[in-house]
Amino acid sequence: MPASPDTEGPLPERIARAITVAGPISIADYMGAANAHYYATRDPLGAAGDFTTAPEISQMFGELVGAWAADLWDRAGRPDIRYVELGPGRGTLAADALRVMARAGWTADAHLVETSPVLRRMQAERVPGAVWHDDVDSPPAGPLIVVANEFFDALPIVQLVRTQTGWRERRVACQDTLFLPIPGREVHDRAVPPHLRDAPVGSILETSPDSVGVMRALAKKLVTDGGAALIIDYGYEGPALGDTLQAVRAHGYANPFEAPGERDLTAHVDFATLAAAAIAEGAVASEVVTQGQWLAAMGIDARAGALIRANPDRREEIMEARDRLAAPERMGGLFKVLAVAAPGWPA
Ligand code: SAH
Repeated sequence: MPASPDTEGPLPERIARAITVAGPISIADYMGAANAHYYATRDPLGAAGDFTTAPEISQMFGELVGAWAADLWDRAGRPDIRYVELGPGRGTLAADALRVMARAGWTADAHLVETSPVLRRMQAERVPGAVWHDDVDSPPAGPLIVVANEFFDALPIVQLVRTQTGWRERRVACQDTLFLPIPGREVHDRAVPPHLRDAPVGSILETSPDSVGVMRALAKKLVTDGGAALIIDYGYEGPALGDTLQAVRAHGYANPFEAPGERDLTAHVDFATLAAAAIAEGAVASEVVTQGQWLAAMGIDARAGALIRANPDRREEIMEARDRLAAPERMGGLFKVLAVAAPGWPA
């Protein structure tokens, strides 16, 4: 929702009032308001929460991210460089990665981009000495390694829907506090890539101007200050048709238009568009690979083997975590990895 002085009562009532006063709002405003409330008021992660992320499944995930960062730092000539993480959740990934980096001889300052006060407190326990920022622009100048796991999927999206009379922006209307998506104003055909314009009625096309904005700011910083970013999320190489807006509550799918602010709203990330945004700022983008391919290349099997040797009684659990993270039919295939770097930085 646009910044509004209306802070009275529960969020659904506030959104409903805004719609009553000014008409249906964009999916992006709805999603932005819902997620800001959602993350600011709880720890959503883990068995007792709504969803589980890769670093919460196994320490192997954060450790391999740390190994990636340490290798890059080493090949770049061991410069003075800081660790920046976007949306660090409980701080588990940062703690596991920083431990491996320290073992390689690099004690990095940690800068965490996080808006939720609840999660900032949890991160402080796991990452002592961290410094927090509200957005990507604020970490101080100088080379940086950036990590973002399941961050971009939480950023607002815009949806266009193909109707009998052309493409329209999908907006959120409401009746009482029952929200529903409806086709809003018509958009120019040029908003839709030529190969998708004649899609069947009902087709949905998603874009995320917020994600592109964050990616451009990040790439700009990398090009000026040096460094690289690793982006991991579920997604596809678009633009492509499909409605991927989803709500998750208590580890199950829920209706995204019910109880805004009480469930996690996400959308799949368009990695091709993110890579293009980085390239537009002069950065270099890797090809997009699956999480399974990336973890295999980073040596997840060797890491799992070492963990099992050190904890033989946890063999089953470690093998299950390895499988959940890397198997193509599980997170290994659904999640994608993109690296973006300043020109001249090691590949
Ligand atoms: N990376 C973590 C957590 C993913 S959940 C993990 O892998 O476990 C999404 C994270 O992004 C949360 O920490 C949430 O508070 C944060 N977040 C969501 N929207 C944000 C925004 N607009 N600005 C900054 N942080 C945001």
